[in-house]
Amino acid sequence: MQSLRKHLPGSWHKLLLSLTLLISGLGLLLWPVRTLRSDNFVFYFPTSRRVIPLEVIDSVQYLPLLPVLNLVGTLNALTERRNNLKVAFGDSHIELHDGDPRVRLDKKTLILAAPVRVSNGKWMVPGDFLTTVLARLTNQDVEYQIGTNRVFIGNIKPSSFTLRMEQESNGAKLTFQFTDKVTVHTESVNGQWVMFLGDHPIQPLEQSFHFQNPYVSEVRFDDQDGLPKLVITPSAGGLNFYPELSEGGKTLRAEVSKPAPAQPSPQTAKAPPPATPSSTASTAPPVTPGSAPGTAAPAGPAGPASPAGPPLPVVALDAGHGGEDNGARSRDGVLEKELVAQLVERVRQALLTTGKFRIVMTRTGDANVTFEQRAVAANVAGAAYFLTFHAGDLGGGSPEVAIYTYQSPGLASPSSEGRANPFFVAWDRIQENHIDQSRQLAQTIERDLAVLAGVTLDPPTTAPERTLRSVNAPAVAIEIGSLSPDVDAGPLTDAAFQLHLSSIVAEALSALQAGGA
Ligand SMILES: [Zn+2]
Repeated sequence: MQSLRKHLPGSWHKLLLSLTLLISGLGLLLWPVRTLRSDNFVFYFPTSRRVIPLEVIDSVQYLPLLPVLNLVGTLNALTERRNNLKVAFGDSHIELHDGDPRVRLDKKTLILAAPVRVSNGKWMVPGDFLTTVLARLTNQDVEYQIGTNRVFIGNIKPSSFTLRMEQESNGAKLTFQFTDKVTVHTESVNGQWVMFLGDHPIQPLEQSFHFQNPYVSEVRFDDQDGLPKLVITPSAGGLNFYPELSEGGKTLRAEVSKPAPAQPSPQTAKAPPPATPSSTASTAPPVTPGSAPGTAAPAGPAGPASPAGPPLPVVALDAGHGGEDNGARSRDGVLEKELVAQLVERVRQALLTTGKFRIVMTRTGDANVTFEQRAVAANVAGAAYFLTFHAGDLGGGSPEVAIYTYQSPGLASPSSEGRANPFFVAWDRIQENHIDQSRQLAQTIERDLAVLAGVTLDPPTTAPERTLRSVNAPAVAIEIGSLSPDVDAGPLTDAAFQLHLSSIVAEALSALQAGGA
């Protein structure tokens, strides 16, 4: 993989292209309403979607192999022996063994996160088969987040949404901000409100949101029957529900309120309805940690008193890549994902040593974490700063450091919509609220780095770094180099270099926090 400057811009073109294709593919879908279940897996294709039952074996999600293959192509031949299955599929051959995580695809051996299983006579593969094998088999984009019940195959850019809840005197207001237009059709089903969101594929950042208030106890995203929908569970019976779509279909507001009293009931009017399950927690903020950026403090009383003084600001540290995604590789075999994990650990230690910060790590261990999950981890923690670390081919001597701030794709300037309310910026543009502070952060680190002898320093610049896009805090990408197949990684794995860099980052953040930048 190349440096940020070189390899990221292309993904924007792909994104825009898939959006266009997606929009043109809408309107063709018609699906029957089925019961709301939680044991299906949904396959989203550009012009259709299919549902396949899911099986959980040893807490791993498994999919039946043959139905999955039938969704994406043609099975030409099948040879099944006691422990072994061979499938001719298109021009390829796949071979699997019961109890073995290895899958043979033509001449390659691919390794799944969990073994292949035969269950009730059916060959079952773990969910990561989709990204590990199916993507190669079909030569299509496959977007799947482990643990979710949906996969997007082909040119699809699913939208997502943020949710904010405000408590009002006589009810609650839910505001959903979608990244793309939706349509809404609402039904009341079994005491819940179900808002069907049309045909647009949606990848929720969070599957469900829980609240503690007299009006709404849960908002859950569900597409188990192939139909994306929001299911709202009221905290009590007899409440009214008024959904309203605005902003051209991207903002959905829903009022939940008590009906106007038919006769005065002076004593009980102020008390929560008796059916409220969690009314004892009335001092807690009504929004859970699982909710979206901008949800932290609803209007009303301040949050719970903190016994140990004001909490320390949170720094989110993001080690790029991970899992199957190795990132760049040096001549002597050092992988970017491992190098940046090591560096992030040193930065974490340096920051903790200052005693001025708490730390959130967006990935721990060698996991393949999506951009969205990284941003969610930071946003949910209320991060004050976000630092993502990469290593790549910076084209110069080694060691070299480059610092980037987010470069928006040029769709619009940050404040072009003339709306100052930061809560209503779409999730995928939220970093645009912080561009100035992000630049200040980059400049502060850069200024402190200038004292590091023997290190080449690139001037701060911008890159359409995908990880930064949805971060609701000042955020920079720090790339070290050069990590490329042409050179050894020695100067970058050098402990002294990493320790110096880490302490300078910690100093810069401390200075910013103290207002002395
Ligand atoms: Zn990278």
